[in-house]
Formats: sequence, structure tokens, C-alpha cells
Amino acid sequence: MNADELPTLRDELEAHGLWANKGLGQHFLLDLNITRRIARTAGELAGKQVIEVGPGPGGLTRALLETGAHVIAIEKDPRFLPLLAPLIEWSEGRLHIVQGDALEVEEAALLQYGPPASRRHAPALAGGTPAAHIVSNLPYNVGTPLLVKWLKAGAWRGDMTLMFQKEVAQRIVARPGSDAYGRLAVIAQARCDARLEFTVPARTFTPPPKIASAIVRLTNRADPYPHLDALERVTAAAFGQRRKMLRSALRALTPETEPLLRAAGLDPTARAEDIDQQGFRRLAEAWRATA
Ligand code: SAM
Repeated sequence: MNADELPTLRDELEAHGLWANKGLGQHFLLDLNITRRIARTAGELAGKQVIEVGPGPGGLTRALLETGAHVIAIEKDPRFLPLLAPLIEWSEGRLHIVQGDALEVEEAALLQYGPPASRRHAPALAGGTPAAHIVSNLPYNVGTPLLVKWLKAGAWRGDMTLMFQKEVAQRIVARPGSDAYGRLAVIAQARCDARLEFTVPARTFTPPPKIASAIVRLTNRADPYPHLDALERVTAAAFGQRRKMLRSALRALTPETEPLLRAAGLDPTARAEDIDQQGFRRLAEAWRATA
């Protein structure tokens, strides 16, 4: 199956009289070489379930379907549905389109639209539901809330291959001691190993956004930290005043900061950006013990 046999995305947009709505973060990838590279970055997808948010005209959707994946595509803008519909037949039914807001959608309930058990290559989880990969060129205005939603998701969620604005991608993969290191890095890396795979220049998109984008691959950790809510609370306090020592910054959390820091084995004079993933886990646990 080769998407080159389909009408070009540019011709499709023109034929349907469609243009980008910037309010919905619409910047399209019309070059299949790029969308195929994103699909390849996600690993072996044949026979697996993939959730794609924001298919738009369907450039990434085409590349995902070429791999043999079963794709559930969630698009908020109904104007794209007639343009996506022919891909259902082309893929012999491996595409299911949902019109709606991905922030509101319950992904686990959509997995029934995946492949029948006999055609699944993905290992089944307890309860028989195969984990779904998420592969998306995310709308920049809801990229971070969607990521946080998925980090908190249950066993239905597999690994994620996601495009963000480059600056957001750098904040997701950041390490302690760097300017980009903050809440997002700690929360994302509590659940996933995060790697920035490659950057995509702004000129690659139609229309071009103001800044470059980057692909981040997030693979589930063997030792995920379960209490993300506690981690969100302690990182909000710690990075809320990132230039202050922790013994001052954490006053947003509790007046008794020094005993809390001692319980977590952390230096009260350290700053948030010096604390690594394990340190924040200990801090969240110490705070949970007092709450
Ligand atoms: N995947 C396409 C591509 O790579 O060319 C389009 C990507 S564009 C950056 C983001 C897409 O997400 C748009 O099609 C937009 O309509 C859609 N979108 C924006 N907000 C959304 C939301 N809350 N839920 C679902 N889709 C959304």
C-alpha cells in the first residue's frame, strides 16, 4: 500500500476549498517524506492500534496507514471529514474517524474500533485490551494539556510519538541543571523515558508557524511513579520560585519545609532545578506522608 497513489494533499485541500484555521493550531505537513519519517520513528506499527489527534487533511494519517496500523483519528474540525473519509476504503477499514475534542474524548472507550483479536499483533493487556500507541502532530495550543492527560492515562496507553513546538519538546526532555528543566520534565519523565528525535523547521508546514517543531518519543518506563498528583503539587511549589532555595520555595506547600526536605533526603539550600527525578519522587512521597 502506497499513499503516492492518492491525490496529493495540496490538491485535496484545494478541491475541498479548505484553508488553515489558526485558532485550531492548524499547520499542515503536506510532504509525505516528513510524515513517513514520523511514522517510522514510532517503531513497528503493523497490526497495532494507533490514536492520532488532529489528522487535519490526513498527511500523517496516510503515513500511519501505510505501515499497516489500525488508526483511530480524533479531529475537532468537521471540515476535514469529507477529505479523510476516502482513506477508510483505501485502508480497507483500518481507519476510524471520531469528530470531537481530544481533551474531552475518553480514549479507552474508542479502542473497540481497533483490529479484531485475530488480527492483533500487539500484546494484549490484562482484560484483553491492547495498548494503543499515540502518534500525532499536535495542535500547539493544546499540546501540553493533552500530554498531561495521557501521562495520567491507564493501561490502554502505549508509547507516544508526538510533535510539539520545539521549545515545549525541549522542556519535556530536559535534564536537571538546564534552563528548560521544570515541572513538565519531571512529570513526563515520571512515567516515560523521553527523547527528542528530530526537529522540523517551520518552513516545512503549510502555513508555516512562527517557530520550529520537534518530535519527541516517549516510551513507558519500567518503574513509573504512580502518584502524579502529588508530584504536580510539589513541582508546582518548587519551580514556582525556581531561583529560591527549596526551604523557601516549598513554603507554598507547607510552613514546615525543613523537616519535609530532611524526610526526602534533600538539601534545604538546593534549588528546584538541581533536583533529579528520584529526588522529586522522594519529595512527593514525603509530602504524601504529611498530607
Ligand atoms: N496532522 C495534520 C498534519 O500533520 O498535517 C494536522 C496537524 S495540525 C498541527 C493540528 C490538527 O489538530 C488540526 O487538524 C486541528 O483541527 C486539530 N485540532 C485542534 N484542536 C483539537 C482538539 N482539541 N481535538 C482534536 N483535534 C484538534
